[in-house]
Amino acid sequence: MSRDLDSILRSPKAYEWARVAIDAMEQNRVWPTALNFELWMHYVASKDSEVATEIGALLKSGAPFTEQAGEAIAGKHLPSAKLSGEILNAGKNLTEELENVSRALESARESSEAYGQQLASASKSLEHDEDAEAVRAMVDNLTVATARVRDENKSLESQLAETNDELGRLKEHLETARREAMTDGLTLLANRKAFDETLDAAVSGTAAGEPLCLAIVDIDHFKTFNDTWGHQTGDQVIRYVAAVMARIAQPGGRFAARYGGEEFAVIFPGEGRDAALGALESAREEISSRTLKRRSTNEDLGAITISIGIAEQLPGETAPALIERADGALYASKRGGRNRTSIAEPGAASRAA
Ligand code: C2E
Repeated sequence: MSRDLDSILRSPKAYEWARVAIDAMEQNRVWPTALNFELWMHYVASKDSEVATEIGALLKSGAPFTEQAGEAIAGKHLPSAKLSGEILNAGKNLTEELENVSRALESARESSEAYGQQLASASKSLEHDEDAEAVRAMVDNLTVATARVRDENKSLESQLAETNDELGRLKEHLETARREAMTDGLTLLANRKAFDETLDAAVSGTAAGEPLCLAIVDIDHFKTFNDTWGHQTGDQVIRYVAAVMARIAQPGGRFAARYGGEEFAVIFPGEGRDAALGALESAREEISSRTLKRRSTNEDLGAITISIGIAEQLPGETAPALIERADGALYASKRGGRNRTSIAEPGAASRAA
């Protein structure tokens, strides 16, 4: 956070600015997540900052302020977001560097081993040749020198083995940090960042003629549910739907993520709309037929329902366009009365399944 904004946040007007930021977010249909709040505080209270300039330009262009856009701005300008990306990159570079060193040392060891063997065989071939006394003495000396180098290499090797162990531990830490940065804390599903990366990779990696489906799932009337039963129970319900999504994503290749508050996304690489529809319809039926309990009091919460939108990638379609069509199909399900699945037709209205 810039020093300017930091002092504004601790000034008598801090709460006023916070309210202005929340209002501006609401007007622009931006979720009040911690990250968005930080960005929008910059936008309203620190007009000259780079964050404010970027948000201003984005709004002026008429493009929506999506979570992706927010994360990109934060990654560029907010020190905390920038730092975590940089740490991960630095770790990756360090790992690569150490692997190079390790390879170089290994090849040096192999060369000296081969050299020693060559000397040994030269010495052997000179054993019965008296004229070669002087040469043999020289080779013997070289053999001794090589043995010394080999011993030194051995100690280097054991140091290298220790470094390698340390490197392995470092890699594990980095892998854990990377996994955590890609995981949603409440549901342990992949988070939005992981989803964006996976969908981009799936879209660009799908060969012509190979299908790719995307489903977006939203819990119906979740806000009312939360208001009635409280956030803790609301969180449990999100975890429940997440568990069902994780299960339908079990067959290899499928990928489930928490897309937003009560929204989930499932990617079906290599699968067409029928496979996606089959999996999601069974999830929908399972969810709507289960009576949930309030864990603290054992009261019946009744059943919850989900609405689903599915889109199959069109030839050459980009990830944002595919998301937009899946989202459109989801809203068709909502408009059609909820607790249903709709499939996006290519470029036309969505049809309910
Ligand atoms: P959790 O509470 O950590 O439960 C994990 C798993 O343990 C559940 O997976 C279920 O297999 C089992 N389990 C836990 N408590 C009970 C119970 O009282 N009765 C039975 N029969 N099994 C139980 P599942 O069902 O896939 O649920 C995943 C998560 O969804 C749960 O995590 C919880 O956060 C939420 N959830 C599921 N059902 C309910 C419910 O009826 N009420 C509430 N409040 N949350 C639920």
